[in-house]
Amino acid sequence: MGTNTIENTNNPAAAANAMNFDLTAEEIEFADGFRKFCLKEIAPFTAQADESGHLPASHYKKLAEIGYTGLLHNRKYGGQEATYAQAVLAQMILSEYCASTFFSVGASCGLFGGPIADYGTEEQKKKYLPALIKGETVGALAITEPGAGSDVSRLIMTAQEMETGYTLNGQKTYITNAPICDFALVLARLKDAKGADAGLTHFIVDMKIKGISRGKPMKKMGLRASPTGEIFFEDAKIPHDAILGRPGHGFRITMQAFNKERLALAAYSVGVMQACLEDSRRYAKERKAFGKIIAKQQSVAFMLADILTKLEASKLLLMETAFLMDESEKEHVKSGKFMHNGYTVDITARCAEIKLMASTYAREVTNLAVQIHGGAGYMEEFRVARMYRDIKIAEIGGGTSEIQKQIVARAESKRIPK
Ligand SMILES: Cc1cc2nc3c(=O)[nH]c(=O)nc-3n(C[C@H](O)[C@H](O)[C@H](O)COP(=O)(O)OP(=O)(O)OC[C@H]3O[C@@H](n4cnc5c(N)ncnc54)[C@H](O)[C@@H]3O)c2cc1C
Repeated sequence: MGTNTIENTNNPAAAANAMNFDLTAEEIEFADGFRKFCLKEIAPFTAQADESGHLPASHYKKLAEIGYTGLLHNRKYGGQEATYAQAVLAQMILSEYCASTFFSVGASCGLFGGPIADYGTEEQKKKYLPALIKGETVGALAITEPGAGSDVSRLIMTAQEMETGYTLNGQKTYITNAPICDFALVLARLKDAKGADAGLTHFIVDMKIKGISRGKPMKKMGLRASPTGEIFFEDAKIPHDAILGRPGHGFRITMQAFNKERLALAAYSVGVMQACLEDSRRYAKERKAFGKIIAKQQSVAFMLADILTKLEASKLLLMETAFLMDESEKEHVKSGKFMHNGYTVDITARCAEIKLMASTYAREVTNLAVQIHGGAGYMEEFRVARMYRDIKIAEIGGGTSEIQKQIVARAESKRIPK
């Protein structure tokens, strides 16, 4: 590994103090190095990528070389075995410079690669993870269908069990990387040999096989360089070993993947707020109106104060949730519920909380940042304009804000004494 990659520091001081979010020297070094990398290798291409609708293909390999694509993956397959705290730190930084890169690379290594790492057989891990982590292949996670988004249980795509494997029929939509991916992790309703419903199940699908076609990249309000699209399956035949995990366990795998996606979307939101703060501060100190810099106008100063408050509150809850994610994955807390500082943590509810909070604040913050910039903020040459368009996805993807509220409310109702 190069000097800029993360070493798993196994910091005993951090372990001893459960609420200590201080970064270690290695983490600070990595963050500094990663920011320099993003400034040099990512930021100069963002505006052009947004306009053309295409990310430079080299982004995947460059992010692989610096260790980003393998942050949460096992060393055995080329990963870094970083903590969630280290991962969200990097996700925040990348998000400041290019939302589309953050989404496409995240869909590949996280949404596709994460469940394979967690539930795949040794053969599946060896087959898919090393190339993915090296940035040589691109993956996607295909859950959403035209008739089933928030309500995953309604999906109708089928995987009919046959003697030689499974036959897939159905349609997926709004899938990040669908137009470009080599492989997709597809959630379908498994039908056993007799045609009976055997429950939702994930399948790892090679996009080159007969019977699979893709729609054109969808035109979007934001994230324009992250390709999104439909996938059509018409009697597409896949082998038996394409199944991920146990038959009927698809819903469970999806819910666990959602926890990680929500944490990552919260990190994205915090990164965007950070960028908005910096740009707004700079602009408010340069721009003059009525004979003084606009930062001296109380209304502008209050907007800056609002941005800072929303950013810092979200960052703190994000770092604590990342820390709790690490705790939740330790052997003794596999259920996702555990005691922390005297109360029971429900990690699913915590991930929902931080995504709800950070995405709501980030959408408000991009609005404030554009407002501080006045007419300039409406112009594409200022990144706050792009961020204003891009950020909306954080309130929709990985489950809408309304669904996050339901999850938090459900966990909360269990705490109310009877
Ligand atoms: C850019 C982009 C990228 C995406 N990438 C992927 C991807 O890679 N893979 C993938 O599988 N999907 C992906 N999606 C799909 C995304 O996960 C869904 O759009 C999202 O889960 C919402 O589903 P829906 O669009 O069907 O909305 P609906 O479920 O139709 O919701 C519409 C509205 O109704 C509300 N609503 C629905 N049910 C309830 C309820 N019970 N209580 C209260 N309110 C409710 C919602 O909150 C929302 O406001 C992507 C979407 C976008 C826009």
